[in-house]
Amino acid sequence: MVGSIRCWVFDADDTLWESAGYFRDAEDSFVHLMADLGFTEEWIRKQVHDRDIERLSVTGYGPGPYIETLRSILVDCVEKPSDDAFSAIARIANRLTNHPVTLFPGVLSTLESLSGLGHRLILYTMGEKDHQEDKFERSGLSGLFEDCVVVPRKTPESLEALIESRQLHRDEVCVVGNSPRSDIAPALHCGVNAIYVKRPCTWAAEDHDIQVTKLVATVSHISDIPVLLHPDRTGG
Ligand SMILES: [Mg+2]
Repeated sequence: MVGSIRCWVFDADDTLWESAGYFRDAEDSFVHLMADLGFTEEWIRKQVHDRDIERLSVTGYGPGPYIETLRSILVDCVEKPSDDAFSAIARIANRLTNHPVTLFPGVLSTLESLSGLGHRLILYTMGEKDHQEDKFERSGLSGLFEDCVVVPRKTPESLEALIESRQLHRDEVCVVGNSPRSDIAPALHCGVNAIYVKRPCTWAAEDHDIQVTKLVATVSHISDIPVLLHPDRTGG
């Protein structure tokens, strides 16, 4: 099955580069801010998580909507928040939006190796278009990919649209991503191959049972992919 793959559809955040860690940092900073205003850590984290899941269907993914969630908690829970509190939110927003794009180990060499085989590489990510395209440019990877496709939310329909628009042959396509809900489930629904990159922490909203049909493999690192293609060789 793996030998038929000619087109790789890569997720970006937490598959090619770190992202969730910056959201965790933003949440920690917000918890400190609200603790100074008298709120307990446990209560604030629950507010963030509940509102975060609530807003996803309305505002979509990305730092902008996430910061709006934090700001809404501040405004709803604190009577007349100070300018300092709003400034603290602005600093959290700035760090979350402009964080460095740090590739995981082995990402560059793996992508270069696949590209060197003549395979097609498509970046397929969700969130705010400008923000995701900015990270893609800053990643230094744009020369290896034929396109960067940003959708508000990854669904079977959005993946189907990608497959149809590029007239991809399903047996030749493999989706690679860290999210069971957004990457793997739509791939299996559309009948294409999938490789699940299992990260230490999966965001609660992205958890989902994975059915094994067409799941090529579960890997810990992108650099395991060349080993799947050439099992007789060891290392990447
Ligand atoms: Mg991801």
